[in-house]
Amino acid sequence: MNRMNINYKFCKLNINKIKYQEYVKSFKTKDLQLDNIPQKIVFCKKCVISNQRPRTEFNEEGICNACVYAQWKFFGKIDWKKREQELQDLCNKYRSKDNSFDCIVPGSAGKDSSIVTHQLKYKYGMRPLAVTWAPFIYSAAGYQNYFNFIQSGFDGVIAYPNGILHRKLARIAFELKGDPWEPFAFGQKAFAMQLAAKFRIPLVFYGENGEVEYGGSFKNVNKAFEDPSDWEELYYKGTGLQVLLQEGLKMGIFTEEELKQANFEFYQAPPLKEIQELKLQMHWFSYYKLWVPQEHFYYAAKHTGFEANVERTQGTYTKFVSLDDRLDPFHWITAYMKFGYGRATREACTDIRCGHITREEGVALVHRYDHEFPEDMFPEFLDYLDITEDHFWKVMDHYRRLNVWEFIKGKWRLRRIVSNKDVVFGEISPERIQFPQQGLHPPAFHEQEKLL
Ligand SMILES: [Zn+2]
Repeated sequence: MNRMNINYKFCKLNINKIKYQEYVKSFKTKDLQLDNIPQKIVFCKKCVISNQRPRTEFNEEGICNACVYAQWKFFGKIDWKKREQELQDLCNKYRSKDNSFDCIVPGSAGKDSSIVTHQLKYKYGMRPLAVTWAPFIYSAAGYQNYFNFIQSGFDGVIAYPNGILHRKLARIAFELKGDPWEPFAFGQKAFAMQLAAKFRIPLVFYGENGEVEYGGSFKNVNKAFEDPSDWEELYYKGTGLQVLLQEGLKMGIFTEEELKQANFEFYQAPPLKEIQELKLQMHWFSYYKLWVPQEHFYYAAKHTGFEANVERTQGTYTKFVSLDDRLDPFHWITAYMKFGYGRATREACTDIRCGHITREEGVALVHRYDHEFPEDMFPEFLDYLDITEDHFWKVMDHYRRLNVWEFIKGKWRLRRIVSNKDVVFGEISPERIQFPQQGLHPPAFHEQEKLL
């Protein structure tokens, strides 16, 4: 079920090679958060995350803020009865009287958005519109779940942005931010708001507040909703779409002509004035309900036809989490370069915090799967970005932070891993390239070239 019988075609991206070569001579990452991460690596005493995860903070007892929040939510610091009443009040306020859509649920019809949409419709009597920002490349499992979700009685809209421009944005984000996933994140947030403004639907329901569930700012910990002004800081790493467009032009990846004709509305929030006029509210379902992803899987399997994948996703141990995009593992594998942890860590953290596995089990899972390279999707990823394998590793190695990795006997090794065992990921011949022993980042591409 991993791959639909589709002959994917990716045209060449027509990049101006002269401009590109010139640009990389003074290449500097735009991922500004890298400068704010501690050099010394420390792991949470309760879960398996390290302090290298941006925005995660530790208390004096060595416990990360996501684990602190998990304690609150499971052990009585939150009055869930009161919050249930707040949700009912909110729904009473916004519920449509003429069957028009009264709320939007952004999501992919995975287990989390399925439970939100289903409960809003059947438990709270709302008229939700499911809004999906298409994955880069749909997986068979993801599309099947979307299809079955719609067949179980929901209205949905899928947005596909311009394929060439989307690929170019992913390519720029991969090189400039070390994260090809970023254009997806832009649209995931913004498209739902664009649709809300156009259809005049004043309420958007996100699933979880990622900042408190996974570690980050506690600014909104006791708040049900988010302001658009939070986005730039929380989700876009200090630089938004405009930077990708401007730099993409300088890099020769975009042409002026292309930018003149292109429409990037899907990636950007509607003007603040429109949001204010509509009195658009964006609420997290996880504020109102105890958020336990594994329970959502059982719920969605029962009510919306959700099925787990037949095999686990490469780089992790799960079969029912973030299934819909074949390129998803590359978001995690690039994060692995910067922070030394991958998708298995993220999922083990959630399972430990929810009490499904022990910390020891989590450590073993991380050791086994975190560094597993997503070989199955690799050719598609290279085609999607229109890069060679050699170029891929050049960018990846650029993002290896030297407090996380060390280069010994021709192999890259993690300096510290939660299991305290040896992990090797990536090889470069030492005759080809030498990295400085000190310093935060490996050299820029052009410096690497000089060393070849
Ligand atoms: Zn923790």
